Amino acid sequence: MRPEEIEIRQIRMRLRHPFETSFGVTEERHVVLLSARCGDRVGYGEVTAAEGPFFSHESYQTAWHVLSDFVIPWFLGSDLASPSQFPKLVASIRGHSMAKAGMENALWDLAAKVEGVPLWRMLGGRRDEIACGVSIGIESSPEVLFRKIEDAVAEGYRRIKIKIRPGWDVRVVDRIRSRWPDLPLMADANSAYTLEDAPRLRELDAFGLMMLEQPLHWEDLIDHAALQTELATPICLDESIHSAADARKAHQIGACRIVNVKLGRLGGHTGARAVHDCCQERGIPVWCGGMLETGIGRAHNVALSGLGNFSLPGDVAASRRYWEEDIVDPEIEVTPRGTIFQSEAPGIGYRVREDLVDRLTERHRRFAR
Ligand code: MG
Repeated sequence: MRPEEIEIRQIRMRLRHPFETSFGVTEERHVVLLSARCGDRVGYGEVTAAEGPFFSHESYQTAWHVLSDFVIPWFLGSDLASPSQFPKLVASIRGHSMAKAGMENALWDLAAKVEGVPLWRMLGGRRDEIACGVSIGIESSPEVLFRKIEDAVAEGYRRIKIKIRPGWDVRVVDRIRSRWPDLPLMADANSAYTLEDAPRLRELDAFGLMMLEQPLHWEDLIDHAALQTELATPICLDESIHSAADARKAHQIGACRIVNVKLGRLGGHTGARAVHDCCQERGIPVWCGGMLETGIGRAHNVALSGLGNFSLPGDVAASRRYWEEDIVDPEIEVTPRGTIFQSEAPGIGYRVREDLVDRLTERHRRFAR
């Protein structure tokens, strides 16, 4: 596979509603997109790095730098037979997994389009219908949160995830539970706690949460293992897992019982697949996390979620929850029973609206072989 041209662009899109986590509020996204061209076939990838270095050290601006100055020139000087060889090519770049994932995923989309097969099938997926959950941010009041939960439940979503932090945790969960005793519910702390908060986190055990996601430090495994021995609620790791080796170590010391698989955090489909397989062998269920993606990143998440061990609903929701107008056609849609069907079209299965992408573009650069 020798794409003759790689394009990197940065677009700007306004979210329909601000999204707040323990890191802060996001109202507008700057998204770096990659495209790889082979004749009339174009593969697309999305960099999921945020506006600032808070989820990880990456931002869309560090991704632009790493991609334009290293990853793209290296790729164009290479001769890879398959996108699965891409991680090796960029292995000497430490970190910057989201930048790498944007490029690698564009190559996967292109490879599937060149072969004329849906990406989810090329990845080895078996699920043609995936279960969807939603992630609801920290809201201005519990009442606003309850309204959003009500809407998501009415739309058929299979589980609700709320974001928590000290001061917005036990009491909020308690009130949700008294209103929805059986709702599949989980909480994501995005590393807002320390081991000293164990007694407070233990109070959450009373509410039958599906899992508590990433309560402690974003690189920690050891303290999570200590916390898991004190909690009945399963811990799910997100930020702490960067590779299959991390997943293996987390399992070995009992740091989690569930893993959130994110393409950006794991460097692309190859790394995500490796974590999926490692967890499957160890009996750890996984689900697909979200990063406020546009339709391109969202479509890659849907394709990834076809793999067999994605047995829990992911944060792969409909385009219209986030965007007035998404950059793919059709938009990602969720059925009334809270699922998304895989597309049988080649590649990611959604047409990229290049006219709209052009209008949203803030900067772009082309690299030819
Ligand atoms: Mg998370």
